[in-house]
Amino acid sequence: MSQTEHRNIVIVGGGIIGCTTAYYLSRHPSYTPDTTTITLVEASAHGPAQGASGKAGGLVAKWAYPRELVDISFPEHVRLAEENNGAERWGWRFVGCGSWEGKGEELGESGSGVGIGGQKKSLEKTLGLDSPSNAGSSSQTSRDETGLPDDLKWVKDGLTESYSPMSGPEGTAQVHPYLFTTSMFELAKDKGVQLVTGSATSIERSDGRVTGVSYRVPNDGSEQKIIPATHVILSAGAWSPSLVPSLPISATRAHSVTICPKPTVTISPYVLFTEIQLPPTKSSKRGRIVTPEIYARPDNEVYACGPGDDSRLPDNVDNVEVDQKACESIREHVASISQELREGTVEKRQACFLPVVSIGGGPVIGEAEKIARGLYIATGHTCWGICNAPGTAKVMAELVMDGKIRSGNLKKLSPSRFL
Ligand SMILES: Cc1cc2nc3c(=O)[nH]c(=O)nc-3n(C[C@H](O)[C@H](O)[C@H](O)COP(=O)(O)OP(=O)(O)OC[C@H]3O[C@@H](n4cnc5c(N)ncnc54)[C@H](O)[C@@H]3O)c2cc1C
Repeated sequence: MSQTEHRNIVIVGGGIIGCTTAYYLSRHPSYTPDTTTITLVEASAHGPAQGASGKAGGLVAKWAYPRELVDISFPEHVRLAEENNGAERWGWRFVGCGSWEGKGEELGESGSGVGIGGQKKSLEKTLGLDSPSNAGSSSQTSRDETGLPDDLKWVKDGLTESYSPMSGPEGTAQVHPYLFTTSMFELAKDKGVQLVTGSATSIERSDGRVTGVSYRVPNDGSEQKIIPATHVILSAGAWSPSLVPSLPISATRAHSVTICPKPTVTISPYVLFTEIQLPPTKSSKRGRIVTPEIYARPDNEVYACGPGDDSRLPDNVDNVEVDQKACESIREHVASISQELREGTVEKRQACFLPVVSIGGGPVIGEAEKIARGLYIATGHTCWGICNAPGTAKVMAELVMDGKIRSGNLKKLSPSRFL
């Protein structure tokens, strides 16, 4: 494609990766609506952020992985929040973060922790902490030898065995992932990015180059349609292999709940990676260990998620099944260590699929020229897609608009290493 030709960029998938990429493309110095058309194709009838990107925890950490992408992403999160009032708009703030170990109190028989027949899988966020030098020391003072910070009052002292901070004061932050993703989309739309509601069915090619994206509008019975494309960015999360089958991406379902504490209760800003020893039951004489992650949010909402399972990926994000038992287990587990959460009201019970690179490593970021020139892949962000979206989006915009990545060396993540 010559530099003077009109660019038709089609992004497939309106999760955090697709929406943030749309934002960065629309802010690129050489973008004008006269020379470049950007179209985001999203399969959900409810718009962007209906999958993992709307239902994640929202942690943004310097100790996340892979390091080369985090090093681009973290400062970009800070900049985006400063430039767009992210504190108000998507709940950006620095947050205390630590691993908490202790006992859970009796609440009655607790659930299985995953859907019936499911198999537990860790979301593996703390893998980035394998080197002790990655962990920082907290500036918080602790109230006793367990290490529990003075202001972390919403877990019970008597149940706590230990608390260890995962980073220093500005090493961990958070966003509300649904608000961040939809804000990125709205800001991109303000600059001319168009949304098409439809499920992409194939990436069209001719002479080794992409030429368009075919899609269908679910349930409207009409013919398949085609959007012409000079560049296609595949950011369909766990669904990405439906368009590029050689991508080694598998899908892990995970459940989460949000809890609204009583209005008189203030939840201090902490994210906890817990290891809770539940009381003994008939089926488990020693008491099972469960490991929910708990996120306090600026609006006093608390989000908690459980482990992953092997449930089958449905054809469309709108058809993800929620196992009510798995949600109830998460509620019981977090309530077993916190009076404040026990007395709160559960507002959302939800599930989503995170895209996992099945051969390890990832995410997969770059041009897949072996499949077709003009085809770009941005997927497989596992448990760190919220954190790593700005870095991914920045380098995707550089690749498409400038022809090369300028912000860092991401060769390790190149599609040629995975496809
Ligand atoms: C329980 C849980 C907690 C998490 N917590 C965190 C966290 O604290 N911090 C963090 O950094 N990460 C976290 N993550 C990971 C993060 O949510 C994901 O890495 C990220 O959301 C992936 O974004 P995505 O845009 O690739 O995929 P998705 O959000 O799944 O978006 C993909 C989109 O593509 C659309 N799509 C699919 N197929 C098609 C098609 N054929 N045509 C058109 N559209 C299509 C889908 O409808 C969907 O909207 C968590 C994940 C889970 C499950």
